[in-house]
Amino acid sequence: MMNTTIEATFKGYDIESIRKDFPILNRKVKGYPLVYFDNAATSQKPQSVIDALVHYYSYNNANVHRGIHSLAEEATADFEATRDAVKSFINAQSREEIIYTRGTTESINLVAYTWAKQNLAEGDEVIISGMEHHSNIVPWQIICEQNKARLKVIPVNINGELLMDEFENLLSDRTKLVAVNHVSNAMGTVNPVKTIIQKAHAKGAVVLIDGAQSAMHLDIDVQDLDCDFFAFSSHKLLGPTGMGILYGKKELLQTMPVFAGGGEMIREVTFEKTTYNDLPYKFEAGTPNIADAIALKPAIDYINKIGKENIRRHEDMLLAHATKKLKEIEGLKVIGDNDHKVSVVSFVIEGVHPQDIGVLLDNRGIAVRTGHHCAEPLMNHFCIPGTIRASFALYNTTEEIDLMMEALNRAVKVLR
Ligand code: PLP
Repeated sequence: MMNTTIEATFKGYDIESIRKDFPILNRKVKGYPLVYFDNAATSQKPQSVIDALVHYYSYNNANVHRGIHSLAEEATADFEATRDAVKSFINAQSREEIIYTRGTTESINLVAYTWAKQNLAEGDEVIISGMEHHSNIVPWQIICEQNKARLKVIPVNINGELLMDEFENLLSDRTKLVAVNHVSNAMGTVNPVKTIIQKAHAKGAVVLIDGAQSAMHLDIDVQDLDCDFFAFSSHKLLGPTGMGILYGKKELLQTMPVFAGGGEMIREVTFEKTTYNDLPYKFEAGTPNIADAIALKPAIDYINKIGKENIRRHEDMLLAHATKKLKEIEGLKVIGDNDHKVSVVSFVIEGVHPQDIGVLLDNRGIAVRTGHHCAEPLMNHFCIPGTIRASFALYNTTEEIDLMMEALNRAVKVLR
């Protein structure tokens, strides 16, 4: 489908060759070339990631850490190489601060069931925001209920931004934890997390940043942010599903109780007493997700090769193009219409149900997400059942956006 030098694409960003690296972009859906705009749900994978999975199972398949045979050593080296790549990717101070999990959800739950369970006393407070994904709401509700702590919520304004004055009012000497997303999955809003972290630290609170939507798009420097925890998923940054990262400051991780018990997380087991392994293995019980951990490294390498700044410039261009075109549709309202966003545009159209639009776009091979985006409280805030969300990635093009616009205009005519 691509015959382009896309006019709006800046010099040096070789979109044609980038697209060739993602085999799925060649497929057709319902007879039309796939236009994949559901990147905030999960990104597509470059060939190098797919090859790494096949290579592991074809040549190196062995359990890690325990074996002394060649396959085990090779698998362990590749498995641990990802930890070093992640450490650099987010500029952590040490590889011990990089814990492998199944994804953002498990990373957040790990902190809830260890740090928070140990540290929240009756009457303590946890602050989240009104634009959180359910994964950064429900674990805190559960732990607050168990520990008799209170959950407070930073309100969101009409443009989909956090009300920072209200945040300051919510902070108190009882605030023990602030857990907010870096970028809203439902709207694309980039939150002022550095300020949030500074203000929370001034009150002695610990801060967890949900980086599920930021890791792909923004430069992440956990030392500069000074966050205590940072959680993200491999599958949203070109890597495989079932793999995620919890970054934690070493001094915090060291004081935390263990999460799950089993092999690998122990130093010595007797029936009387078990002692635990060093970081990061203390939090990695059982045989890990070896293949997917190994295949996260080529994903990170791929992003580094293209360069986050280049990706950001390209995606910003796509966002600007889409937002401008969408606003030409009568009765269309962008949800989260502000100017500090990553490449997500969420919208509703008067008189038309989002799901019907989703179905009609799919009939043209165009994948968008419709619904509440696992952010029901945010949808309630805007008094809507859901939105249509188009989220763009480094391999998308303005031409694809134009195809969506054509299909969208046609769908609106049919549905109104
Ligand atoms: N937080 C945010 C902001 C998200 O967008 C998502 C997924 O969409 C999650 C958390 C949960 O991520 P996962 O399902 O990979 O654990």
